[in-house]
Amino acid sequence: MVDVCIVGAGAAGLAAAIFAAEAAGKAGCAQRIVLLDGAKSIGAKILVSGGGRCNVTHDVVTATDFFGNRHIIKNVLAAFPVQATIDWFASLGVDLKCEETGKLFPVTDKARTILNALVNRCHELGVAIRPDHRVTDVARLLGSEAGFAIHHTHGTLHAKKIILATGGRSLPKTGSDGFGYELARRLGHRVSATNPALAPLILDETLFHKDLSGISQEVELTTTVNGHVVDRRTGSLLWTHFGISGPVVMDASRFWTIAREKGEAVELSVNFLPAMTQESARRWFMEQAAEAPRRSLAKTLAHLVTERFAESLCRYLGITPQTAIAQLPRKDRDRVLPALTKFLLPVQQDRGWNYAEVTAGGVPLEEVNFRTMESKLVPGLYLVGEILDCDGRIGGFNFQWAWATGLLAGLAVAARVRADGEACR
Ligand SMILES: Cc1cc2nc3c(=O)[nH]c(=O)nc-3n(C[C@H](O)[C@H](O)[C@H](O)COP(=O)(O)OP(=O)(O)OC[C@H]3O[C@@H](n4cnc5c(N)ncnc54)[C@H](O)[C@@H]3O)c2cc1C
Repeated sequence: MVDVCIVGAGAAGLAAAIFAAEAAGKAGCAQRIVLLDGAKSIGAKILVSGGGRCNVTHDVVTATDFFGNRHIIKNVLAAFPVQATIDWFASLGVDLKCEETGKLFPVTDKARTILNALVNRCHELGVAIRPDHRVTDVARLLGSEAGFAIHHTHGTLHAKKIILATGGRSLPKTGSDGFGYELARRLGHRVSATNPALAPLILDETLFHKDLSGISQEVELTTTVNGHVVDRRTGSLLWTHFGISGPVVMDASRFWTIAREKGEAVELSVNFLPAMTQESARRWFMEQAAEAPRRSLAKTLAHLVTERFAESLCRYLGITPQTAIAQLPRKDRDRVLPALTKFLLPVQQDRGWNYAEVTAGGVPLEEVNFRTMESKLVPGLYLVGEILDCDGRIGGFNFQWAWATGLLAGLAVAARVRADGEACR
């Protein structure tokens, strides 16, 4: 019988282990804490995160950066402000730097620095990390042996308390394949529909995205579901060989995937001139036509967007990009300007779990106590990280959620084991 078994040695599980072991140590009360992970080597997702640099957190983090029950999210975040995260990493020997975008990375620019620091601290604290131990089932033990029987690929472990930190369904090859939801369900929890979030989107083959692959531009992206605008945001869109990516697309993708899953009518439209409306774009265009009537359409539009994009858009609309703007038929002008300010993207599908960075949906936040992350349904069970129904926008917010929930569960579980008495004899 160990005191605490943490299932999943990702960001949230490692944080929970460290906070639990530190709290127990401070109270002079050694606790047996074991981390089980199905992956042969742990931390794959930390290593690939932030383009291999690990975007640990953001300079400002508020509940509005997340989707889910924001009242609960706000309370969880309040327990571990950004400065506390920075100080915590400093205590682990990792200095963070803040970039212009507000994203914080390790000064080494290496995600490995983060993973090593977390794993080394676990080792210092005597936390047992067991890779290649996939948990296949969890049963509650009742009576004098109250706790959990945790069945894994090498046998069964008995634990007084269990923390589920199995992540979501994004990047399943790292070990986060969604089985944690099944474990939560078997223990009595509900799991709301899970959909890819922070995912690139695939466009219809006939669009011009392939010609622009690698080019980014600032846009305003609007998602409309059943005729109602559900999201509007401005940021960088990246054209790719399959369609679109980049922060603004990744952030908006959850609305598209959720609506599509529900069978709702969903549209994604782009304003390629985010500072302009259709009317102000028309006025600008008329001024250009008066000032430089012989300038080509593509060269004129190149004042506002890249020339390559202008050419691709014109050709897609069947308009010759070299046409002098004074010669441009009105019917073509009336097509090109709306296409610049309200272009309907022919989205076919999202790029799926292998490319999504996070999961929208999961165990409802209402089913956990936000002060401790303990299940309201199963005493002694705690849930942390991405398994919960909370997803953050791009920029370090999902890791901040993992650290904060890990902290709350770690401190609470250590205190509970202590209160139960046995571990401190
Ligand atoms: C490509 C990519 C880049 C990202 N970049 C960033 C970034 O820069 N900043 C940011 O904030 N977020 C980023 N994210 C999101 C972030 O990585 C996750 O939100 C975060 O890792 C979730 O932490 P977690 O501990 O809850 O789950 P995970 O990190 O997914 O860890 C879960 C662990 O549980 C284990 N596990 C699952 N099921 C079982 C089982 N049955 N038995 C035993 N073990 C099990 C898995 O092997 C895994 O190790 C990125 C995600 C991806 C995919």
